[in-house]
Amino acid sequence: MERSLCKCGNVLFFESSVCVRCQRDVGWCTTCGKITSLEPHPQGGFTCNTKGCGAHVAKCENYATYDVCNRTIPADKAEVGALCDYCRFNRTIPNLDAPDNKVMWARIEAAKRRVLYGFDRLGLVYGTAEDGVVPPLMFDFKTDGGDGKQYRDVAGGEQVFTGHDNGVITLNLKEADPVLREKSRVEFGEAHRTLVGHFRHEMGHYIWDVMVKGQREPECVALFGDHNAVAYADALNAYYQNGPKADWPTAYVSGYATMHPWEDFAETFANYLDLMATIESARDGKMTSIKDEAKFDDLTAEYVRLGIVLNELNRGIGLIDFLPEVIVEPVKKKMAFVHSLTKLGKKR
Ligand SMILES: [Zn+2]
Ligand SMILES: [Zn+2]
Ligand SMILES: [Zn+2]
Ligand SMILES: [Zn+2]
Repeated sequence: MERSLCKCGNVLFFESSVCVRCQRDVGWCTTCGKITSLEPHPQGGFTCNTKGCGAHVAKCENYATYDVCNRTIPADKAEVGALCDYCRFNRTIPNLDAPDNKVMWARIEAAKRRVLYGFDRLGLVYGTAEDGVVPPLMFDFKTDGGDGKQYRDVAGGEQVFTGHDNGVITLNLKEADPVLREKSRVEFGEAHRTLVGHFRHEMGHYIWDVMVKGQREPECVALFGDHNAVAYADALNAYYQNGPKADWPTAYVSGYATMHPWEDFAETFANYLDLMATIESARDGKMTSIKDEAKFDDLTAEYVRLGIVLNELNRGIGLIDFLPEVIVEPVKKKMAFVHSLTKLGKKR
């Protein structure tokens, strides 16, 4: 992620909604594609402060009213209550009568923005029915219990499973609670469990539907195995009874990836997005000079090099490893297939 500078000279981050030094409002401008400080505009709304941009913008409704977003919309498209390019995919938002739900929602939106930004940067296809994308992308952010009450209030009622189904990505609000999420992470023996990771994984299933299904399936089958060979429900049951294949580190990025070729794809996809996000942030922080357009082998090697340093930095202050995955040759080949779906991969 690239940082920006406020008009006052202070550093702004992707998540910023206010400059901590000068108190200017801060938001993402879709015209220049940057985080920027915002100047009140004489006709209402704001002016983007990025040099050479100066777009007239308005805050997304989820920013202006709920403060769970920090994106803006070009002022000429900003009807009352208009949602930004990322919030428009929300089909179900949490019940905001329960005050803690809004805090969880804000965390979910922040993770979602990071992940969709990665899609935009890499030219991965997603969209609504109006955009002509099949299946259209939608998000349901829900709580157990079915009544949308406090996310911890789980007495009976509907159980919400985080997952993807034909374009609809469902996320259980409790995944935004670090205590509950860490409990699940340990129970399921996962190296990481984060909101960003959930979105990257589920968006992997989505991209399979949009960019692989009926288009590049034979190549995908050759690398990930035949998704039609085992019924998904049977594979799921077998996985929860027997756990992952013992030799999974020789060919998979995680134990869960062994469950079914679709899960392997989603896990690999998420790992690939981690790689590209790390490369970008490391470059912004002058830890690497590698370009996005480099050969995929070189990008992977650089990611591993950075990962070793970052793991040591984390261990040095007692945090879990930054890069727990070992990228063996079969995993690299699968990641290279994902890379080939992006605009970077298509160039070569
Ligand atoms: Zn400032
Ligand atoms: Zn701008
Ligand atoms: Zn928004
Ligand atoms: Zn999955």
